[in-house]
Amino acid sequence: MKNEKIETLKGLTLKELEEFFLETGQPKYRASQVFNWMYNHVVFDFDEMKNLSKEFRHNLKERFTLQTLQLLDIQSSPSTQTKKFLFNTIDGKKIESVLIPEGERNTLCISTQVGCPLDCKFCATGLMGYKRNLTTGEIVDQYLLTAKEVGKNKITNIVFMGMGEPLLNFENTLKSIEIFTHELTKGLSRTRITISTAGIANKIKELTEKNYRIKLALSLHSPFEDVRNKIMPINKKYSLNENLIALKEYALKSKTRITFEYTMLKGINDRLEDAKELARICSKLPSKINIIPFNSIKHMNPTGISAELEPTPINEIHKFADRLRNYNITVMIRETQGDDIAAACGQLAVKYN
Ligand code: SAH
Repeated sequence: MKNEKIETLKGLTLKELEEFFLETGQPKYRASQVFNWMYNHVVFDFDEMKNLSKEFRHNLKERFTLQTLQLLDIQSSPSTQTKKFLFNTIDGKKIESVLIPEGERNTLCISTQVGCPLDCKFCATGLMGYKRNLTTGEIVDQYLLTAKEVGKNKITNIVFMGMGEPLLNFENTLKSIEIFTHELTKGLSRTRITISTAGIANKIKELTEKNYRIKLALSLHSPFEDVRNKIMPINKKYSLNENLIALKEYALKSKTRITFEYTMLKGINDRLEDAKELARICSKLPSKINIIPFNSIKHMNPTGISAELEPTPINEIHKFADRLRNYNITVMIRETQGDDIAAACGQLAVKYN
């Protein structure tokens, strides 16, 4: 069994496993067997792959690992039942996933990077800086290790909304989706997966070209280019306008609705003119707005603009939402989930890294 480059089989797609087994002189059907054990039966030990010969299992075990992350801790929020899973990577980095129950749904929010390079001024992950991309195996293992704890069929939705910018770890994010939605894994349908992005327009275009069919969410946070430039520096590279054009094409081709995430910042994006311009933007493409109360980042001892950010009071948030509804826009106000266990948006794994 050669192949020096590969250390873990976790994260390989079916095609990659097929190539790998053929290269190592094994029949191609081994690939779907191993694929099925890893991603459908959620097995973390070669010895449990019962339809492989003992000798073959032994060979695999000598050479490769099946687990990229170690589950360190699970914290549950007494108020919302939100659960936060803390993982350790092999190189000692900490990442987190959050399981959020909402009625019949259980949404797993997963990370794609350790830290984040985008430096959004309201986000604790942004303030900690960027360490590295997660491998496909590490993205997939967040789901599999959580599934092992709570039961695979308990996870009904996945959102790429944890640490990091998924479209800047494009290949690994798409590979993980290929695994999550593959018919052999009896996993999730594409309509139950959402990528949340700060707006990497050229990658959104690539998704449209690929005829991709998952849901997309844009972290909008202001309908004005100049405000976005200040709070989300990535806007200087990919303007809101460029992103909106790309998102419209995506929405029309994929027949999905874009979610605009909107974290409410006092005096910055909660004014009358914000509601008006936001409504104008929304009416141009199939979309809805998800309003998120701002979770404090004071524990990061922020400087500059970050230090001045304050949440819009909840009664003002409701007024803002009503204003949007008057323009016939679909608006949801997200309840802050799990901020009692620092599992809320923009607060993940920061204290450990
Ligand atoms: N990079 C991706 C995904 C990670 S952020 C993106 O930008 O979409 C996930 C969501 O949490 C985004 O909408 C982000 O803007 C929001 N968020 C970040 N920090 C927050 C905070 N302190 N309070 C509320 N929402 C926050």
